[in-house]
Amino acid sequence: MSISLAAYTDVVGAPAIEQLHQLADDLAGMRVVHVNSTKSGGGVAEILSWLIPLMNELGLDASWEVIEGNAPFFDVTKSMHNGFQGNPVDLSDEAKAAYIETNVSNAERLRPILEGADFVFIHDPQPASQIELTPHRRGKWIWRCHIDASHPSRSVWKFVSQFARQYDASIFSMPQFAKSLPHPQFIIAPSIDPLSEKNRELAPGEIKSVRDRFGLDPKRPILTQISRFDRFKDPLGVVRAFRTLQIDPRPQLVLAGGGATDDPEGQMVLDEVRKAADGDPDIHILFLPGDAHTTINALQRASDIILQKSTREGFGLTVTEGLWKAKPVLGGDTGGIRLQVFNYHTGFLVNTPEGAAHRIRYLLQHRERMRAMGRKGREFVRENFLLTRHLREYLTLMLGLKQELRDHLAA
Ligand code: UDP
Repeated sequence: MSISLAAYTDVVGAPAIEQLHQLADDLAGMRVVHVNSTKSGGGVAEILSWLIPLMNELGLDASWEVIEGNAPFFDVTKSMHNGFQGNPVDLSDEAKAAYIETNVSNAERLRPILEGADFVFIHDPQPASQIELTPHRRGKWIWRCHIDASHPSRSVWKFVSQFARQYDASIFSMPQFAKSLPHPQFIIAPSIDPLSEKNRELAPGEIKSVRDRFGLDPKRPILTQISRFDRFKDPLGVVRAFRTLQIDPRPQLVLAGGGATDDPEGQMVLDEVRKAADGDPDIHILFLPGDAHTTINALQRASDIILQKSTREGFGLTVTEGLWKAKPVLGGDTGGIRLQVFNYHTGFLVNTPEGAAHRIRYLLQHRERMRAMGRKGREFVRENFLLTRHLREYLTLMLGLKQELRDHLAA
């Protein structure tokens, strides 16, 4: 379901909405195509699901394409993802061939769509080589990298950068991720949709019914981490932190998440987490379907503290979602989490399971402080990480590139 821009007036004020219309006037009718590798699961799909309808409402002609891949392709792109975020990955010739082969077969279908577009946004490494498979490009091509690219493995960056450097511009979530590339690089932080099913206000009965469904006791604290079962999200570290907590009444831990169609490692990590939890009745491991937005919303709202103990994180929309629900967030001291979590203000940054346990104990023993942090976190998100700010930055980026586009088409 898409929500009209006017509905956001109550959240961000009328001038912010008016400003978007003004900016978009100069882009009316322009053809914009976004390409990523999954329709559901993970932050990119979350963003594209509101970005496309709102761009269309603003008068642009926007669409969303997904590249289709087989298991070997997603094994390769997952290991590229891991290599990007610092794991020592050496891409074999076979892996590179599988990547190219899938992109070539997708290009047959995508080329006619991408050739005529005024702006093409290619998200992350999976579809990055589409640029050289579309030789007759008319518009501006922008590579949007959502992952922590600060210390990629040499082999992976060498491979991906041969495509990345062909773009007209790139976007990273924070300055520390920018690379040495021969084109303008923009820094745009992601954002959440405050009116989506994932983030809208819920009635107390809706929260209660989800709490009851999973057998959570409202009289004891609830700590929740929502994320794909991915090693960089450190679910095992969360279990370890929980096990070192000696506190009365004993809190409950919820580790909830599903898979993403472009993430083949989920099942393996889930099995490891189940093993580490060792049947502890206070550790609730929930494997959720891709459309469990209301459930996730209710779990976040039912929680006392939101955890996101990642060891690498491009941004961490789950952090934003938790802050928006006025919950303090305990986040791994890494990447985009550092843009959102500030010690004693919106939560705590942690490096170890012991550090996480220490901060959880502090928060549960300082309830008033916890509530104050929650209020601050919500306002911080309102000012910085809602979709209207994000959309404004996309529009200004396109306006900036548009003149160049005109010159290019006139030449
Ligand atoms: N999410 C979801 N279902 C899940 C796990 C995550 O809908 O099982 C959502 C989560 O609420 C958030 C996004 O997917 O909106 C994850 O984005 P984030 O930036 O935290 O991490 P990513 O998965 O992109 O690394």
